[in-house]
Amino acid sequence: MKKNYENITYLDYNATSPLREEAARAVMETMNAPHNASSVHSLGRAAYKIIEDAREDVAALVHAPAAQVIFNSGATEGNNTVLRHFANERILVSAIEHPSVLEAAPNAEKIPVTPDGVIDLAALETLLKKKKTGLVSVMLVNNETGVIQPTADISALARQHGALVHCDGVQAAGRMVIDMRLSHVDFLTLSAHKMGGPQGVGALVLNLCGITPTLLGGGGQEKKARAGTQNTAGIAGFGAAAKKAAADLKKFISHTKELQVKLELKLCKINTGGNAVVIHSVNAPRISNTTLFSLPGAASETLLMAFDLEGIALSNGSACSSGRVTSSHVLEAMGVAPDISAGVLRVSTGWATTENDIEKFLAAWEKITARLNQKKAPERKNA
Ligand code: PLP
Repeated sequence: MKKNYENITYLDYNATSPLREEAARAVMETMNAPHNASSVHSLGRAAYKIIEDAREDVAALVHAPAAQVIFNSGATEGNNTVLRHFANERILVSAIEHPSVLEAAPNAEKIPVTPDGVIDLAALETLLKKKKTGLVSVMLVNNETGVIQPTADISALARQHGALVHCDGVQAAGRMVIDMRLSHVDFLTLSAHKMGGPQGVGALVLNLCGITPTLLGGGGQEKKARAGTQNTAGIAGFGAAAKKAAADLKKFISHTKELQVKLELKLCKINTGGNAVVIHSVNAPRISNTTLFSLPGAASETLLMAFDLEGIALSNGSACSSGRVTSSHVLEAMGVAPDISAGVLRVSTGWATTENDIEKFLAAWEKITARLNQKKAPERKNA
């Protein structure tokens, strides 16, 4: 399938990733027929098989039994489903969660993070000791910084204090190994479109705690865990993307790591006129596809528009739905100074990113920062 964005250098995989060819094919083939998995006729049975095959593929990606995968409309729904289930209990969430977690649990207490953006385990332990807790929710990989959280330690602490654990695995799935058998995470949320599947489909993966949080009632779909006619085509695309992501995982990690190292080395060498670039969370364990950095004193919005004019799509990292650049609660929780967080940019790469894309980004960065310096120069003269 021909891309209709061939003139754009796409470096915003954490916002959404391009649809993988395998996923596009699966969606198109499935959409070709009226598929409702609840129908008893042959087309209904075919839809049922498509969904169960996809369930196997998504389960395999995170090493969970297929029966524990519940398809839904995406991670926003998955996060709301879990967090709202525990609304009458004490909930602890990390201060750097995605808004779909934070807004689903407005009364939750916040677990602080270190200046590098890693969950403060000592603070978590103190919070857990204070009062009985129903749920601890910490994401596996932060969407802005790319920091990989110590979920094994978090789960162990939560268990010791009788709390269950929810993990938003959106930015990790298909980009690092996730093993539900070893993780002791009770609920994992996934989203297809971050791994090359279509938008508007995701999954809640349950572990063995025996609780099935349910948000939507109605028909008995997804074993009564999520009512509503299944998005058969979307689920087919999700399954295809998960299968390809699992098969290519090693390649993905080594490819994006290589790009990340090159990008960060060169980024630090480019003369930005006295204000050195700050790479956030550089000392923490990070996913290989994400680099969050700031140019102190600059404005993200201006930089993003300048990149856009150069045909390069990236982000400032913080989640927004209105197309406007918003300030980052993640950087605030890390204690990053406002003049540094105001000039933040996120490069997030994927399987289709090339070395040439990184070179184009760096050339544009050199050009944009040189222009900013030229503008600053007369001010200095007049001062
Ligand atoms: N959680 C994280 C960490 C995300 O990055 C996102 C999307 O940006 C979501 C949840 C929401 O996912 P969805 O688009 O599937 O609702």
